[in-house]
Amino acid sequence: MKFQPRASHFIDGEYVEDTNGAAIEVIYPATGEVIARLHSATPAIVEQALNSAKNAQAAWVALSGTERGRILRRASDIMRERNYDLSVLETHDTGKPIQETTVADATSGADALEYFGGLAASLTGEHIPLGGGDFVYTIREALGVCVGIGAWNYPTQIACWKGAPALACGNTMVFKPSETTPLSALKVAEILVEAGAPKGVYNVIQGYGDVGASLVSDPRVAKVSLTGSVPTGRKVYAAAADGMKHVTMELGGKSPMIVFDDADIENAVSGAILGNFYSSGQVCSNGTRVFVQKGIKEAFLKRLSERLAHAKIDDPMDEDVSFGPMVSENQMNIALGYIEKGKAEGARLVYGGERIERDGYFVQPTVFADVTDNMTIAREEIFGPVMSVLDFETEEEVMARANDTEFGLAAGVFTNHLTRAHRIVAGFEAGTCYINTYNLAPVEAPFGGSKMSGVGRENSKLAINHFSEMKTVYVSMNDVEAPY
Ligand code: NAD
Repeated sequence: MKFQPRASHFIDGEYVEDTNGAAIEVIYPATGEVIARLHSATPAIVEQALNSAKNAQAAWVALSGTERGRILRRASDIMRERNYDLSVLETHDTGKPIQETTVADATSGADALEYFGGLAASLTGEHIPLGGGDFVYTIREALGVCVGIGAWNYPTQIACWKGAPALACGNTMVFKPSETTPLSALKVAEILVEAGAPKGVYNVIQGYGDVGASLVSDPRVAKVSLTGSVPTGRKVYAAAADGMKHVTMELGGKSPMIVFDDADIENAVSGAILGNFYSSGQVCSNGTRVFVQKGIKEAFLKRLSERLAHAKIDDPMDEDVSFGPMVSENQMNIALGYIEKGKAEGARLVYGGERIERDGYFVQPTVFADVTDNMTIAREEIFGPVMSVLDFETEEEVMARANDTEFGLAAGVFTNHLTRAHRIVAGFEAGTCYINTYNLAPVEAPFGGSKMSGVGRENSKLAINHFSEMKTVYVSMNDVEAPY
């Protein structure tokens, strides 16, 4: 098998296998073909990985930030040099078109390695002068062993978005990719070693939810960063709380995108396409509730349908293909189930709405109009290529309806009215907002959710605070006054 890795796990700088672990089959979603067979980590593998990360941490944190940063930046360069091969692997792991993976996966991972590599040398505490000559200084310290647990939609990116800030701060990591897309994280681990990372600094073990759970509850682990669904987030957060561990939770969403009638329709349609159909709709921050002001609704739907007809749906390895399969049969069936619910609950099907009859797990890009707030497709995260278009009349009305959800990951507004754009964004209950664009996530900007969509932020300087903590040192320059 062309994509079979040397072994399932990467621990202490080497590939490691334990065939006693449950089988994991890796399937190319465009054909249903098995492209690799791996094993879930046994307790012995989990133990080996955590020991390796624990043992490696003291020497890693003892390096200067400059040295750690240099290794991360070298890893970033290697990732960019190998972008095409890594993208081919990512396309086979996820089914996402090569047109996407060459610009949004290893490149995004490389951005994170470069950015946090660049920051590593400047991570410091501060000096705080007090009255009477006393002062405090703070020491920014690494947390220790961090666990990263990934979702299946952006496997390389998630492995790097968690690994890069963790390592920059002097932590070590055990990363568990999604069992659906286990291959690319192994390449990230290999590249880090090639770039000079000492053995054990970044380990990858495979497994289902039980392996993730055993990592989260281990007393050696100081921090858990999860990308996944809200139900998993609840479990992981609760288990981490038991050990008072630090957490970052990047969870699901049902984000609103509001299109006012003064918006540039072409741009709004582009935003709606990016925010619903990129990666076949399998993006956490997607703006799947598209509120369109009544005056332009039919024009918006007409242009959207015209442009969707230009989506090229075929083998994702073809460079012209812009829309690929869903990641798995299971996810496809979930999306098809929601499409049936949309039809049954009375939404108007404007585009798509069917599985595509061919090998693999292809679902048509699907648009429902006349969706109302209480329909299932407007309330639950679908994580597939299904857009709901809802009508609205006034700004006050749409603001309240946009926020009427337990989620708060992202939100967007399309309007050419300057003050209204900022007023709307100020009112959004969401961690990541967009004005006249959608779904961009540069490493320089914080990314993460409010409400049920998450805790903490990835990327930007803020991520450093989630992978380090401050030690406060009070220094007295005076005699000690005691009451007796
Ligand atoms: P999931 O919640 O099913 O699984 C996520 C990961 O958690 C997997 O690696 C899984 O094995 C692991 N896991 C499952 N149960 C666990 C447990 N009890 N303890 C520890 N680990 C456990 O999610 P998924 O289906 O892989 O991904 C889709 C979801 O991820 C969607 O809800 C999507 O919105 C979300 N997501 C969020 C972001 C973000 O940045 N906010 C990004 C991508 C995906």
